[in-house]
Amino acid sequence: QADMAMYRAKAAGRDTLRFFDPQMQVEVSARAALATSLRHGLEHGEFLLHYQSQVDVAGLVTGAEGFLRWQHPQRGLLEPADFIRLAEETATILPLGRWVLEMACVQLAAWSERPETAGLTLAINISALQFHHPDFVEQVLAAVDRHGCNPNRLKLEITENLLLDDRDATIAKMSLLGARGISFALDDFGTGYSSLNDLGQLPLKELKIDLSFVRDLGTNANDAAIARTIIALGETFALDVIAEGVETEAQRDWLAGHGCRAFQGYLFGRPGPSAMPAARLDG
Ligand code: C2E
Ligand code: MG
Ligand code: MG
Ligand code: MG
Repeated sequence: QADMAMYRAKAAGRDTLRFFDPQMQVEVSARAALATSLRHGLEHGEFLLHYQSQVDVAGLVTGAEGFLRWQHPQRGLLEPADFIRLAEETATILPLGRWVLEMACVQLAAWSERPETAGLTLAINISALQFHHPDFVEQVLAAVDRHGCNPNRLKLEITENLLLDDRDATIAKMSLLGARGISFALDDFGTGYSSLNDLGQLPLKELKIDLSFVRDLGTNANDAAIARTIIALGETFALDVIAEGVETEAQRDWLAGHGCRAFQGYLFGRPGPSAMPAARLDG
């Protein structure tokens, strides 16, 4: 009777009732082990950033986005899908996010030393929990100051849903960082719940067309309409627009033909450990 205890399985969706099953117990202890090894990994330098170029219409590299990777001693190189959600649930994303910020500032400072890389921007992903932390603004400014990097080169990628919470504080934080030259991009744009009002009122610099709309541009009229709309929104609100997940010439040409002027995706390079993008790419 005891092992028939019902519980609500969050992972299975809203209010799904399930019976106890041994597989679940395996998952629970696997998660606990992963949570422990996340913290251990952070203390032992197992995390790294991979960089992916961002290019303009002429194919010139304008900067990069940093993606978190975990060089796990047993499981090999892990991607965010393997650990970010758990890091968020256990708040390990807070020290992890600070580490990413630190790395980004180190990289920007290194780029600033060479004329051919001094103008590059670096974007990093900020999780909602990290953004809403009371010390977030101070942490960002302290990291920038500590490494003496140019705040105009740092881009923070946030997602639309982050804007739903604590609106006044969100605007205040973005404005404080914006006043110091740090810019914000709305990642995965079109998949969340921002309002048109947000686009005019928030101190945003850039919209990122989510890769799910880029994938089937040529064949899916709905995706193409969304991409066109995002580009038009960018024009209306004077925001830069960058397309992510650009894999083919046809996608790039379609986007460029519809007024998109910045691109990121496998066509221009996969994310990798080298933080020195080629000065110029063909494409
Ligand atoms: P995102 O920021 O929207 O990043 C785009 C994802 O698409 C990345 O996956 C990137 O490697 C991948 N990608 C790039 N070009 C292409 C392409 O041409 N085709 C396809 N199919 N995919 C492409 P990744 O590195 O696995 O990261 C996944 C997500 O994890 C990111 O989505 C971001 O939300 C999150 N993430 C990554 N690094 C960090 C981090 O440092 N902190 C936080 N909080 N989240 C991170
Ligand atoms: Mg991103
Ligand atoms: Mg994205
Ligand atoms: Mg994404």
